[in-house]
Amino acid sequence: MKNLWNYISGEAKIALTMKQVVLYVTVVMACIHTLLFVIFLYFGVYMMAVVNTLSVSLYLGCLVWLHYEKSPYVVFNLCYAEVIIHAMLATFAVGSSCGFLLYMVCMVPIAYYAAYSFRKSEHFINPVIYVFTTMLVFVISKCASWVVEPMYNIGNGFFRDIVYIINYLLVVITIVAFMSTFLIQIRTLEELMIRKNQRLEVLSTQDALTGLSNRRSINEKYKDIIKKKEVYSVILGDIDDFKHVNDTYGHACGDNVLKSVAEVFKASVRSDDVVCRWGGEEILVMLPQCNKDTATQIAERIAESIRKILIVSPGGEEVRITMTFGVACSNEGEDIKDIIKGADNRLYYGKGHGKNCVIKEDVQ
Ligand code: GH3
Ligand code: MG
Ligand code: MG
Repeated sequence: MKNLWNYISGEAKIALTMKQVVLYVTVVMACIHTLLFVIFLYFGVYMMAVVNTLSVSLYLGCLVWLHYEKSPYVVFNLCYAEVIIHAMLATFAVGSSCGFLLYMVCMVPIAYYAAYSFRKSEHFINPVIYVFTTMLVFVISKCASWVVEPMYNIGNGFFRDIVYIINYLLVVITIVAFMSTFLIQIRTLEELMIRKNQRLEVLSTQDALTGLSNRRSINEKYKDIIKKKEVYSVILGDIDDFKHVNDTYGHACGDNVLKSVAEVFKASVRSDDVVCRWGGEEILVMLPQCNKDTATQIAERIAESIRKILIVSPGGEEVRITMTFGVACSNEGEDIKDIIKGADNRLYYGKGHGKNCVIKEDVQ
């Protein structure tokens, strides 16, 4: 019951293929026609009982067709044609007041549903043509019913109203079923797109190896930090002699070093701070609301943790590394680019003066 409710309200977690939809529709159509067969038999409308027997046979044939993996497109068109012809014949048989022409209305959403569902296959469905056909059949049948007397008289208005109500309910149920499937498919597609977009967002803003923000995304992030016009600091760190690590222990070992270094950075900063892979083995940290002394302390702490990293190379050797840091603060320049440049200059100075250190002032 809950599943049925979820389905009707479009909340169900199912995505049907076109073949499944056509399959279910065929089964439902076969059931509807069996019910109509009983009704026609009850009222002695034998011509329509024969038509319904043919219809049910057609739907069973369609099921066999689908079972052998044949195109659902053919089945869709056969079903569409069957509904139109059946409604027309039933109107001629018992008159338009029994509501068989109502089926023309439910064909409108079905045509659009099919146009949506078949769009990826080689079969193109133009819903306007299908809708126009049903409109034409409706108008012709309705006009014809004024001049042509019904072939069968199924009794007084009460019986005709009963048949009309049954037809109305079947039409509404069909519309609800199709629109629910439509809603579910659109929602499923929407969720899929949201998930894919989130994944793309992560891929475009994150460095794949270290999981840190990449250089592109930091541009977005530091816009927010700068906008606040509060003091902020940057730390730029570069692994010492990293080329040597790669050359001696292999690139894979170098990658492991980078991952461990990234973990140290992530663990050493606050949640508001932004850690970014600035270049190959250069890491930049943006520290909002942080003065230079505090930033220097943080850099010292990171440097100490980096010295403690122990990586075992594929050959079993112990690999240890150090990093050199440059620190700069927002009050030392106009522009973020100047501040980062300042940190870079200090880092460069540190590289030239023994490495494995934190430089926070310009040294001439
Ligand atoms: P310095 O102490 O002056 O910084 O020397 P260095 O050897 O660290 O500097 P250099 O710029 O000469 O070398 C950086 C190396 O980092 C070269 C490049 O192959 C390596 N590298 C850059 N990105 C990656 C990566 O994603 N994985 C690995 N394993 N190595 C990388
Ligand atoms: Mg380096
Ligand atoms: Mg470098």
